[in-house]
Amino acid sequence: MCIFCKIINREIPASILYEDEDVFAMLDIAQVTDGHTLVMPKEHVDNILDCPPVLLSKIISVTQMLSKDIVRKLDAKGVNVLTNANPAAGQSVMHFHMHIIPRYDESDGLILRFKENPTADIKRMENILKK
Ligand code: 5GP
Ligand code: ZN
Repeated sequence: MCIFCKIINREIPASILYEDEDVFAMLDIAQVTDGHTLVMPKEHVDNILDCPPVLLSKIISVTQMLSKDIVRKLDAKGVNVLTNANPAAGQSVMHFHMHIIPRYDESDGLILRFKENPTADIKRMENILKK
């Protein structure tokens, strides 16, 4: 059983913020910024790529609800909501979870940089990816 399944089953303690029939949320043990929260399905799915859409919509709804609550209660100036899928993308726990990372200022704990690839071929990508 994975570590998040064990937490959901109360085999390992956690700071639980929210729970319903399908969704579970707790504070991340390593707080990138104050209030850093993880929202996940109770059912084990590896990541967003494997999550059934109906379950995903429940996760997203709770993520929005908690994000608003956290921002208000901690007087955050914004929030990053993100998920990592597979180790290549930085996923270290293979139980799907959304990160809610409240933001306070540019010098808080999160550094997120989008670096443009100058040799990217957008037309080729469009041809491959468009439906
Ligand atoms: P990932 O790297 O998979 O996107 O994120 C995994 C997150 O889970 C990390 O931010 C890490 O701090 C958190 N984490 C790992 N083990 C535990 C734990 O036992 N309890 C809690 N609350 N968070 C954990
Ligand atoms: Zn699990």
